[in-house]
Amino acid sequence: MTQAKKQHQTQALHPESAHAIVIGGSIAGLLAARVLTDHFERVTIVERDPLPSEPQARPGVPQSQHTHILLTQGYHSLETLFPGIGDSLVAQGATRIDWLAECPIMFPSGWAPRFPSEIKAPLCSRTLLEQVIRQQLERNDRIRWATPCTVTQFIPHPQRAALHAVQIKDAQGKIAELSAQLIVDASGRNSHAPQWLQHLGYAPPQETIIDSGLGYASRWYRRPCEFFEDWKSIYVMAQAPNYPCLGALFQLEDDRWLVTLMGINHNYPSTNEAGFLDFASHLRSPVIYEAIKAAEPLSKIYSYRGTANRQRHYEKLTQLPENFISIGDAICAFNPVYGQGVTIAAESAIALGQCLQHQHKRYGAGQWTGFSRYFHQQLVSVTRTPWLMATGEDLRWPQTVGNQPDLITKLLQWYMDQVVSLINEEGDVYQAFLEVVHRLKAPTSLLHSQILKKVIAKRISHPSGEVSTSSVRGQL
Ligand SMILES: Cc1cc2nc3c(=O)[nH]c(=O)nc-3n(C[C@H](O)[C@H](O)[C@H](O)COP(=O)(O)OP(=O)(O)OC[C@H]3O[C@@H](n4cnc5c(N)ncnc54)[C@H](O)[C@@H]3O)c2cc1C
Repeated sequence: MTQAKKQHQTQALHPESAHAIVIGGSIAGLLAARVLTDHFERVTIVERDPLPSEPQARPGVPQSQHTHILLTQGYHSLETLFPGIGDSLVAQGATRIDWLAECPIMFPSGWAPRFPSEIKAPLCSRTLLEQVIRQQLERNDRIRWATPCTVTQFIPHPQRAALHAVQIKDAQGKIAELSAQLIVDASGRNSHAPQWLQHLGYAPPQETIIDSGLGYASRWYRRPCEFFEDWKSIYVMAQAPNYPCLGALFQLEDDRWLVTLMGINHNYPSTNEAGFLDFASHLRSPVIYEAIKAAEPLSKIYSYRGTANRQRHYEKLTQLPENFISIGDAICAFNPVYGQGVTIAAESAIALGQCLQHQHKRYGAGQWTGFSRYFHQQLVSVTRTPWLMATGEDLRWPQTVGNQPDLITKLLQWYMDQVVSLINEEGDVYQAFLEVVHRLKAPTSLLHSQILKKVIAKRISHPSGEVSTSSVRGQL
């Protein structure tokens, strides 16, 4: 950071705005911390795990053994927060993927066409991504690390409807208080913040949970040196409502493959070797099975369940400590199969920066009047569309619990079916679809007249609209 920029930030700070705490040092916490350093003298990240110096899985982030995609818009947001991060990822082993050209996907209508595009992002393991983000923050002299330390409760402010501090416990069991002017919960899906708030007399947020009963099983393999592929990742999709199994293979750092098999509505992939391979062989295409059947496994088979979409409606609470906010999976976790979590964490961090600027402009720096409510309400505009996309897809499956698809959802599902049925024969429709998936364009872009015309023409030529797995077209 230049000296001039530092001086500007320091002058803009009210002395009271000296310290912010982020609970959780995973991706959402790290990204929020990055933004907070523009507004606070010190930002302390409290993380209960010891943080590894190499890209390594850790207990607090069990999902890191499973495939993670970084959507293109998510990558752009990361570049906004950390200019040059793509190059740093590549320098440490990530590759750059063109999702349209280098990731064959088998949809219900067949293999999607492949051609060069700008839908690009780094492709790497979840552990490398977190490691590189952490490295960027380690260079920031406003960041402090309290790790391994667990936040165990909130301490209220004696005079105001605000938090004064968090109570933390270190690895030796020593308890201390850490006070701050802003406290950010980024402790993930299993956040205890609702209970801690309840303990202080606040109502907990209502929760919406929509659970398709998706289970993951993943295994690392050595990429066979004789194996030739012109792709970097490959997907075989499920097909609602009758074919609930899907899989993906990613080519990652150190010549490794990460294979993730997924089953919806509790059709969980097995975690024993024979069952894992059997599941792979019964996907709608055997391509992943053919690739891994003779490949050398490098790990055990990791399993992950608990993938429900879960939203905590802090935005609806009229009473909250004004200097408390929640971000990342702690406030809105998506079914991970749509690959949105990291991207939304990055967009939320950028929204946090905008809210802090707004707050300072309106009330003066160091004043938190109404901040919690304002931030949580603004965040809804970041999470609304990805939530609707994830839950709208999940509600196609008959055993999904938490809600029933309403008329609008059914209409949207129908329209998406029409778009997807065009994918394997209409490259421009596929590109438009992927741009929506990667959050480069709004879903309404799929209503563009060019696409609508193709949907109508297809409905006229194929009035039944049925696509059967046996009639899939296209080549890998
Ligand atoms: C199986 C699976 C696959 C996924 N695939 C993708 C994908 O392809 N693309 C994508 O973008 N996203 C994906 N996600 C989502 C993604 O992992 C998360 O959205 C992302 O990690 C951000 O999460 P987070 O930082 O909010 O929470 P988490 O990653 O869950 O981290 C929470 C952190 O808080 C710490 N913590 C918890 N409690 C305390 C406490 N009391 N005190 C101190 N520290 C605490 C934990 O140790 C942990 O480090 C996937 C998720 C799962 C489960």
